[in-house]
Amino acid sequence: MKIIMLGAPGAGKGTQAAQIAEKFGIPHISTGDIFRANLKQGTPLGLKAKEYMDKGLLVPDDLTCDLVVDRIAQPDAANGYVLDGFPRTIPQAEALTKALDARGEKIDFAIDVEVPDENIVNRMGGRRACSKCGATYHIVFNPTKVEGVCDACGGELILRDDDKPETVQKRLGVYHDQTQPLIDYYMAAGVLREVDGTQEIGKVFEDITAILS
Ligand code: ADP
Ligand code: AMP
Repeated sequence: MKIIMLGAPGAGKGTQAAQIAEKFGIPHISTGDIFRANLKQGTPLGLKAKEYMDKGLLVPDDLTCDLVVDRIAQPDAANGYVLDGFPRTIPQAEALTKALDARGEKIDFAIDVEVPDENIVNRMGGRRACSKCGATYHIVFNPTKVEGVCDACGGELILRDDDKPETVQKRLGVYHDQTQPLIDYYMAAGVLREVDGTQEIGKVFEDITAILS
């Protein structure tokens, strides 16, 4: 099963993608996680991506598309995957479609997690990410068992640099300009499904499971 998660930054794509990946035994592929891992290792790609991420801008398509096309060709993605944070522009979606066409494949579901802008800023202020494994929590809506410590690996939780309120506003603007058009793109492809992302995390996952099953 090949799934794309759509939605504004902070809509809950990563939270849901992690659960989908676990339930269906497919890899969770997050371009944001890939860039952050590269940055942590100090690779040229990570350092270049940081220039854009810190400003709330998208990393250029030419640094992003090949990375994903290579990743989905890996053996662990043979039975499908859940893409989180990609595609984010029409050219990225077209590059993905082209790569899939060449293999006689297609996306099965594009799930749009709908959350209005006014809810997003609150969510982002409370988001905490594990500095070691990247797992995501929320101080109110999805807290860890021990404050400040990752449930999964014991790593230290941090507030992402790009989750500061001024950067979040910028990212929302970029979302509306460049990413929201993908909703029409995947609707035209007949694979768009919408879920109400303002519900609590478990209920959103129930709705997604009902779509995928
Ligand atoms: P995205 O991957 O779309 O940027 P995340 O999955 O990281 O979003 O979620 C953003 C923040 O909101 C996180 O702190 C997460 O724990 C929290 N969150 C995710 N889904 C919900 C929800 N349905 N209700 C409340 N908070 C949520
Ligand atoms: P995310 O973890 O999905 O919130 O992504 C964090 C940041 O990484 C974004 O604000 C972008 O700067 C960058 N990024 C992640 N995925 C993409 C993508 N598909 N295209 C361009 N930039 C991306």
